[in-house]
Amino acid sequence: MNSYANKKVFSCKKCGKEIRGLKENPHFPFCSKRCRYMDLGSWLSEEYTMEKQEYYDTGEEL
Ligand SMILES: [Zn+2]
Repeated sequence: MNSYANKKVFSCKKCGKEIRGLKENPHFPFCSKRCRYMDLGSWLSEEYTMEKQEYYDTGEEL
């Protein structure tokens, strides 16, 4: 059932656009490098915000 697996369609985790599987799409599970970086960027900024808040909480206690 290899042909079936190759025909399987996924959607970009960022914009929802139809994308190919990992074999044909190096940016899987995203449609493009751009969406990949956009998602990574939002994840990193969330992480950064959390760290920043933690830092300020510690600062207030001191
Ligand atoms: Zn996308």
